Amino acid sequence: MSKNIKKDNIAISACLLGVPCRYDGRCKLNQEAIKIFISGNAIAICPEILGGLAVPRPACEIIGGNGEDVLNGKVNVVDIDGNDYTNEFVKGAITAVDMIKNLKIRKVYLKSKSPSCGVTKIFDGSFTDKTIKGCGVFAALLEKENIELEEL
Ligand code: SF4
Repeated sequence: MSKNIKKDNIAISACLLGVPCRYDGRCKLNQEAIKIFISGNAIAICPEILGGLAVPRPACEIIGGNGEDVLNGKVNVVDIDGNDYTNEFVKGAITAVDMIKNLKIRKVYLKSKSPSCGVTKIFDGSFTDKTIKGCGVFAALLEKENIELEEL
């Protein structure tokens, strides 16, 4: 007799699942993410697309702070030419978190170093591939909502 085991709802950064939604029009396929996606009640989510940003788009970094600082209005998310995309990043994070709460998702697996999805480290704002400790805008808002995060 088979038991009906209830699985937790989860979300995963869409680029890790092969969706070509990164700034450069590529994905960042991750086999661990694929395994998790297959084994659970999972959705793919990309906050930057939900914020209205296109593919491809300019690479952006948080200047002088982290995702929490962006949510608090202290620092901005800009591209290498200084064009400001803060509104799109914040809008995308809010929209994605609303979806996650509506779907009763308890855990989110996120792509490292992204100005949206990074959990423990992000690019430092110098556009030189250097990283600093801190989270992206989406990860910061998920933490505020006490949703469990794991970086892949
Ligand atoms: Fe991947 Fe997150 Fe960047 Fe979207 S915002 S491309 S899901 S890292």
